[in-house]
Amino acid sequence: MIYLDHAATTPVASKVREAMLPYLGAAYGNPSGLYALGASAQASVDVARKATAGALGARPSEILFTSGGTESINSAILGIAYAMRRAGAGDHVITTAIEHHAGLHAAQFLEELGFDVTYLGCDAQGRVSLAELAASLRPETVLVSMMLVNNEVGTVQPVAEATRIARDFRASRGHRVLFHTDAVQAPGWLPIDVEELGVDAVSLSSHKFGGPKGSGILYLRRATPFRALLHGGGQELQKRAGTENVAGIVGTGVAIEMAQVGRMERLRRVRALRDHLRDELLATVPDAIVNGCQEHCTPNNLNVAFRGIESEQLVAALDRHGIAASSGSACSNSLWEPSHVLMAMGVPIRTAVGSVRFSLGEGTTAAEIAAVASVVPGEVARLRSEATTPR
Ligand code: PLP
Repeated sequence: MIYLDHAATTPVASKVREAMLPYLGAAYGNPSGLYALGASAQASVDVARKATAGALGARPSEILFTSGGTESINSAILGIAYAMRRAGAGDHVITTAIEHHAGLHAAQFLEELGFDVTYLGCDAQGRVSLAELAASLRPETVLVSMMLVNNEVGTVQPVAEATRIARDFRASRGHRVLFHTDAVQAPGWLPIDVEELGVDAVSLSSHKFGGPKGSGILYLRRATPFRALLHGGGQELQKRAGTENVAGIVGTGVAIEMAQVGRMERLRRVRALRDHLRDELLATVPDAIVNGCQEHCTPNNLNVAFRGIESEQLVAALDRHGIAASSGSACSNSLWEPSHVLMAMGVPIRTAVGSVRFSLGEGTTAAEIAAVASVVPGEVARLRSEATTPR
């Protein structure tokens, strides 16, 4: 199998799996237990928290472990906005139209709760405008939530510049505009330093960087106003109730450290493979177009539009060749729903529905890329010849 869907999930690294296994066996203690088995589980959670903090340039007391990216994002957006409104700071939130649904739907829920939400647009590359951000800030703005890397097209947002704008505005108005970033697609490709980014909250998901599914990280800067979403026990520094997923947390701690190791070399190697695949497809498939991501992008993502086909059909055809890729559109109630990201980028709907994402990973080889490049043109031609709708 040729796996080119690393933006969806990554294989668990063997070092991560090995580190986790004891906690699925003899080391099964509850970290709250007041005996040796519990204490050793707590010690392992503490080690993972320290490693995670170190990888992000944060303090251990600023790291919460969660059930994944979706929980981290919902907790950050809802928990901060709620706490800020309760403190009388305001009820306006700014986010972008190209967030992952975890962020977008959390923002829509805020609207149900009476918040006013501004959705920033983007250009054809998928980049958000800093001028639009600056113009959208208001005295009652309490939170900006902007993703660091888009999961569909790989575009990197100017988060460090955006936090400076939010901070300056805060200074001029005398109240804080907090900043959250969904950095789920960044580890392994970009450095994530919370001081350099200037963020108050960061969401991460372990299974996107060689860790286990159902485990995530929420960085919350010290003294950030925050109301927990999950109520119950006092775990995770009183901010996230529920018995800890010790195996997942241990795996997360190992995976986040591994994501930093050899990053530049990985970046160079994967970018060369991605660029080769892009050049081959553009040369061999008539009318193929690369969506977004030319300049400011992660090196592992290639989103290509093949006009005249529906992306699900190509994904299914590639699967028959043992190739895993992803389609950005979703079929619901027999209606094709194009990707909200491509729509925001101004991609025409006919182009958007034929868009396929190839996302490479650490283990991707040149032979795999060559095989994919040789299969795609024939399958696109076949699907186009069978298509009933005109191109
Ligand atoms: N944010 C982005 C950018 C993602 O790509 C994903 C997963 O696809 C998520 C959030 C959700 O993460 P999780 O699967 O851990 O809930």
